[in-house]
Amino acid sequence: MNTDLKPLGILDGVIIKPCVGSGFCCTKSPCAYGTMNETKTGCVHLLPPNELGQRGCGKYDWIKENVQGWEIYPAFGAGCCMPMFNEMREQVIKNIKEKQ
Ligand code: SF4
Repeated sequence: MNTDLKPLGILDGVIIKPCVGSGFCCTKSPCAYGTMNETKTGCVHLLPPNELGQRGCGKYDWIKENVQGWEIYPAFGAGCCMPMFNEMREQVIKNIKEKQ
């Protein structure tokens, strides 16, 4: 799981923030290969948090093996689509910084 907080680059003048694996997006709306859980708190494939609060995708290997163009959608590692007002992401960043 990524712990590098450096920006990935700049797109149209906007800094691309890295994905830190908080799992936030998978708690809001599952991708095409996920399914929302019964309590509507996240995708059924979202894994439990590690010691930094990061949550992986339990279907990641299946998606890589079976989905052509998986690099585009879901955009694993392409950057964060919601770097602001995202408390789950902020907590992971705080945990990463405290551990460094
Ligand atoms: S399948 Fe994986 S990437 Fe897609 S929503 Fe579920 S946990 Fe997230």
